[in-house]
Amino acid sequence: MSDQGEAVVAAVAAVADRLEAERSYLTDLDSAIGDADHGGNMARGWAAAAEAVADMADPEPGDVVKTAGKTLLSEVGGASGPLYGGSLVFASPELADGLTAETAVAFAETYLEKVQDRGDARIGDKTMVDALVPAVHTFKKSVEVDEMTPVEGLSKAVAAAERGVDFTVPIRASKGRASYLGWRSVGHQDPGATSTLYIMEELLGVARE
Ligand code: ADP
Ligand code: MG
Ligand code: MG
Repeated sequence: MSDQGEAVVAAVAAVADRLEAERSYLTDLDSAIGDADHGGNMARGWAAAAEAVADMADPEPGDVVKTAGKTLLSEVGGASGPLYGGSLVFASPELADGLTAETAVAFAETYLEKVQDRGDARIGDKTMVDALVPAVHTFKKSVEVDEMTPVEGLSKAVAAAERGVDFTVPIRASKGRASYLGWRSVGHQDPGATSTLYIMEELLGVARE
């Protein structure tokens, strides 16, 4: 197994553990403005993904991401399964040459593009996009303009995602189930933006090792 493949397998396992630990909190968030299944969706889907990638023989980073995404697609229905799973599968070829600053930025941009293609959400719609756009833009700028290392860039991106999650609280939902609530969605934090932040925090944790 390549060192990089091994690191990505470890990242998927770390994400699975974190989302299991946050299961009830994410479900609480989704019970306020959705159907109370986001914690279960994420915990179940990522646990299955971690199992699937642990079984891979000689995986490369792109293959690991693709397998994780395919597993999420088959395990998780609703909005988040296709958004997370489909976008991971779609962006995984960006890692075909391994993990570098350049391929990491390309992966992040392609992932974001697919989430927006599929879900048609923009900033301010109160979705995972509110965490993802500032994170991906900050990551790209940090690496390409400020010439930070990918790990430093990822740390800036996590801070940007955190502000994006906070931004979802005072705005009205225009996409997804929460939009059915109209103005009653105001004052609640978006579950998918929150799980996106947790995933990024775990990626950073593994990248720092
Ligand atoms: P469901 O809403 O089908 O029950 P989940 O509860 O697992 O699925 O996921 C809900 C999350 O999915 C929301 O909090 C939001 O962040 C995200 N989401 C929903 N619709 C969209 C969309 N069109 N674009 C981007 N993200 C979306
Ligand atoms: Mg839900
Ligand atoms: Mg649901």
